[in-house]
Amino acid sequence: MPFSLSKEYDVVVCGAGPAGLMAAYTLGKLTSGSRKVLLLDKKEPWKEPIFCAEAVSRDRLSALWPVDPSFVRGPLSGIYFTSPKRYRAEFYSKDCGLILDRARFHHAIADGCVNAGVECHYDVLIKKLERSGSGWQLTVDVGGNLETVSARTVIDATGPGCKLTRDIECLQGIESGNADLEPAIFAVAEGIEHSREHIELFFGSEFESGYGWIFPRDGVEVNIGFVLGKNVKSKVSLRQKLMDFVAHDYPQAKVKAVYGGMIACTGPQSKPFAKNGLFKAGDAASCVNPISRSGIVESLLCGKIVAESVSEWLKESTDEGRALVESLVQPRWMQSLGKSHVQLARAKDAFNSIRDSQFDRAARHLSKLPREKQTLFRIFFNVLWACPSLIWKMRSFLH
Ligand SMILES: Cc1cc2nc3c(=O)[nH]c(=O)nc-3n(C[C@H](O)[C@H](O)[C@H](O)COP(=O)(O)OP(=O)(O)OC[C@H]3O[C@@H](n4cnc5c(N)ncnc54)[C@H](O)[C@@H]3O)c2cc1C
Repeated sequence: MPFSLSKEYDVVVCGAGPAGLMAAYTLGKLTSGSRKVLLLDKKEPWKEPIFCAEAVSRDRLSALWPVDPSFVRGPLSGIYFTSPKRYRAEFYSKDCGLILDRARFHHAIADGCVNAGVECHYDVLIKKLERSGSGWQLTVDVGGNLETVSARTVIDATGPGCKLTRDIECLQGIESGNADLEPAIFAVAEGIEHSREHIELFFGSEFESGYGWIFPRDGVEVNIGFVLGKNVKSKVSLRQKLMDFVAHDYPQAKVKAVYGGMIACTGPQSKPFAKNGLFKAGDAASCVNPISRSGIVESLLCGKIVAESVSEWLKESTDEGRALVESLVQPRWMQSLGKSHVQLARAKDAFNSIRDSQFDRAARHLSKLPREKQTLFRIFFNVLWACPSLIWKMRSFLH
């Protein structure tokens, strides 16, 4: 439907992934229509495919957004940890998390944005962002026509890579969101027998500095894929590597589609998240868990923190007051989740140094225990037992 944008907004939120949707929704709620908030994306947030395995912690999600069966594919009650020789340890817990239908989940938050008074457009490509006076100017492509829009403040929630903001002079020194981009690829496949309530994680040199996975979808299809470390050089293309993995382990599988993406991992998160009225949220601020590579709940949380800060920023009447609000965003993130990410990032190198034989030894031992004895604690200590040098390497994490 044709529409035209206003020329001026208080806040423009760029990107309607979990971070941007949550930021826009929170701002709409906090400002109750007293501020003009615009949410832009180049595509509808519920448009498939969404490059994701869609697993979240139920507790963490429900602390941010009410969990509704309409956007849940199913509950998780276990994780298989699978070693290179395919020995399997099983961690069982009645409530391990959820597999979302992210398209529907995004739709639910997008509806929340509209109800909270946010102006939303999902067919607008943001071409350029530049400083203009004390605010920002955006050049956007609306159905082939270029328009300009100005904003007092902008939230960059455009995901990993940060093309929009990375070369802007007055933003140098803030969190870049492209510190460690790790390649991930997955296939939606049928014909792989897999428990609907388990995720399966594959470790070892086959998935160097990363891991392979199977995540259930609807009981018929699964999401099978892997992420590799950022510096790993694969001898074959990622697609070929995925096909080889599927053909080797599940020769009867039928691959329906293959998708790839980048995961913004392990930014040091020591740099500010905001400067000169520009705030970063979600993957654009490197908020992904460095080991699990989960980023959905992390982006929602970061989007909320950023929106609360922007709401305070708008109330400030001096440059000093606004600069203070900007400087407090990163500490707020660190307080809520960032500190644990820094610890995990330190443990990541040690984890990546575990050899195949050590994974096999630990998983084989665990697989012989009854399921109720395969607690996370025991899994952790069996890996340490199989790989004693880890204790030394992980000393900073264990403290
Ligand atoms: C293969 C894969 C599997 C994953 N599996 C999981 C998982 O199981 N669990 C989990 O928690 N996390 C997972 N993640 C990570 C998770 O998907 C991300 O961390 C999360 O989506 C980040 O949210 P975001 O809002 O910051 O960015 P995004 O979700 O990337 O959203 C950014 C939005 O910005 C828009 N945009 C970008 N540039 C422009 C522009 N110039 N103009 C207009 N719009 C623009 C994009 O269209 C997009 O909608 C996975 C990631 C990958 C790649």
